[in-house]
Amino acid sequence: MELKKRSLAASIARWFDAYAGHADEGVTGTRRFDWTRLLPFAALHLGCLGVIWTGASEVAVLVAVALYAVRMFAITGFYHRYFSHCAFRTSRAAQFVFAVMGAAAVQRGPLWWASHHRHHHASSDTPADAHSSLQHGFLWSHMGWFLARENFAPRNALVADFARYPELRFLDRYDALVPLSLAAVLYGVGEWLGAAAPALATSGAQLVVWGFCISTVVLYQATFTINSLAHCFGRRRYATSDDSRNNPWLALLTFGEGWHNNHHHFPGAARQGFYWWEIDLTFYGLKLLEVFGVIHDLRVLPPRLLDARRVPTPAP
Ligand SMILES: [Zn+2]
Ligand SMILES: [Zn+2]
Repeated sequence: MELKKRSLAASIARWFDAYAGHADEGVTGTRRFDWTRLLPFAALHLGCLGVIWTGASEVAVLVAVALYAVRMFAITGFYHRYFSHCAFRTSRAAQFVFAVMGAAAVQRGPLWWASHHRHHHASSDTPADAHSSLQHGFLWSHMGWFLARENFAPRNALVADFARYPELRFLDRYDALVPLSLAAVLYGVGEWLGAAAPALATSGAQLVVWGFCISTVVLYQATFTINSLAHCFGRRRYATSDDSRNNPWLALLTFGEGWHNNHHHFPGAARQGFYWWEIDLTFYGLKLLEVFGVIHDLRVLPPRLLDARRVPTPAP
């Protein structure tokens, strides 16, 4: 009973300090659900219903769309292609800014995200893969796995190259700090606009509902499709050892991540759309950052791999 109480207290403390009570954890190799992780996740979804009371305004919808776009780019360009796959190089200062932008997506810290993603590539669609729809079912792969106790801690051994930076460890440990700050800024800006420009018909609560709750929930569900749908629906160009697919609809929704079979074929490339018609908004954004000198040494698909390991197309 005492141990249970301590474990519950540690789970709640981990809403704010991801390193709290690690000694109490002792649960690995199981798919035990952590109900205290579900509460903030469900609260964010329920927060969308606040629109019933706050209503909508043009500015609130614009803020929600802009925050979706910026944070989707941060997840795909930085958390995924940079921190998980080192697809380009940058300065330490820019790396920190990228990590803060990624953290604003409310998908935990950069070390947690990248280490679990590296594990996905190392064990894709095997029983060890934390979010394989093939192995563990669609719902688990979409939004169950990250609520499990065994996946709470970062897989530090897989991300040693970035874990040596104390500023990244800080963001990983206090992973609610950036999201809560974003919500607070949205509230402050909304209240200020409500008073300074009443014609905009907005308020602090309205900007929080649209810019934080609705934008984040849509961003969540879009991101999760890459773990679930992009391993079930779409075409396989390359005979990778997993069940990854290329899906143009998901590529549009997630700014290029839907070219997931391409990505599993050669994960190190900064560009996931291998042909000009494979729209990859993240790559275009990264090219722009390269032009401005923010990032450099973008890794490309080795030309010999473009036609290697092709899935044979059936004869007509
Ligand atoms: Zn995958
Ligand atoms: Zn990847």
